[in-house]
Amino acid sequence: MIPYGRQDLNQDDIDAVIKVLESDYLTQGPKIPEFERSIIDYCDVEFAVAVNSSTSALHIACLALGVSKGDLVWTSPISFVASANCALYCDASIDFVDIDPVTYNLSIEKLEYKLIKARADNQQLPKVLIPVHLSGQSCDMERIYTLSKEYGFSIIEDAAHAIGGYYKDKPVGSCKYSDITVFSFHPVKIITTAEGGVATTNNLELDKKMRLYRSHGVTREPSEMTKEPDGPWYYQQIVLGYNYRMSDIQAALGISQMKRLDSFIVKRNEIAAHYDKFLTNMPLITPVQKVNLLSSRHLYIIRLDLPNLIKTRNEIFQELRNEGLGVNVHYIPIHLQPFFKQIGFKLGDFPEAESYYEDAISIPLFPQMTHHEVNKVVDVLEHVLIAN
Ligand SMILES: *Cc1c(COP(=O)(O)O)cnc(C)c1O
Repeated sequence: MIPYGRQDLNQDDIDAVIKVLESDYLTQGPKIPEFERSIIDYCDVEFAVAVNSSTSALHIACLALGVSKGDLVWTSPISFVASANCALYCDASIDFVDIDPVTYNLSIEKLEYKLIKARADNQQLPKVLIPVHLSGQSCDMERIYTLSKEYGFSIIEDAAHAIGGYYKDKPVGSCKYSDITVFSFHPVKIITTAEGGVATTNNLELDKKMRLYRSHGVTREPSEMTKEPDGPWYYQQIVLGYNYRMSDIQAALGISQMKRLDSFIVKRNEIAAHYDKFLTNMPLITPVQKVNLLSSRHLYIIRLDLPNLIKTRNEIFQELRNEGLGVNVHYIPIHLQPFFKQIGFKLGDFPEAESYYEDAISIPLFPQMTHHEVNKVVDVLEHVLIAN
């Protein structure tokens, strides 16, 4: 089976991990600041906070922005559930902005309309918006930023898919048009630390707060304490925090992976370009890339042209799997998950997301794919979609 995504590990990565295992620090050692530094340098940003997952990064990002009971957070319904859950961890409410039919990112037009309507109806405006850069293609952050100034919300970019990508002249993660950006290093994502994530920001206060929430709300900084330290061992817990720390083993893997990030993006874009070229003339829609950005190409999502196909999506999906393609679907609309229906969402709430879900399929795309595998994906699609 050719999986839809797969990590790319080499001997350098393995050696880097072993070196940590043979060192004094398995966690809270020198590799964390070194990894954070590599993210800072790459993303052209002031601060980076490494954590044990991007779900944790989303949680501490919300906390640092003061999201709490009575607040409202908006995100895209076509994302992994973590993009919405972070608001609920903070006892805030969640709502969604339907997607754009071309990029599958949250629609800026619908966002603007929803903001105008909320204001006109004297309804609550969001405290935080979480745009998700689906498949590695950045949302139009400049337009979102302009709206944030007009309507007074903060922005967390969920860039779980998008490290290595660019928006205009800046790397994703630079936070030029946002307060915080989060990345994921789960093995299917662009680079991996097995489990792991990072939050970037240009705001010193947000950086400090996220560091506190990452590690139990405990500080060793005398200026942050309520009294003089009792001695050199002294620490104080000043907020309710968590243990969301990344280990040095993971950070060492991350440092090593960062060195190949650019080559991963090149390879992913080459494979995507091959698909773009060879999947034309098939009853499907290939993903549209905007001109002012570089996608990290985490996912290659095709939309089946079901009215021109005899088979159903499920039949096609099953046949692709049977032929050895590890296809998948990203994502089931969050608002249709039983948990979110229980909160009050229902079928029909976000029609564009729901229609996307009817015909979207992610096909294999990862840096180590061989020419043979890429060609096989094209051949199998042709065989399953065209030959009957
Ligand atoms: C993978 C993913 C997450 C969660 O990342 P973890 O590191 O596994 O917690 C969040 N948002 C999106 C869009 C993702 O794809």
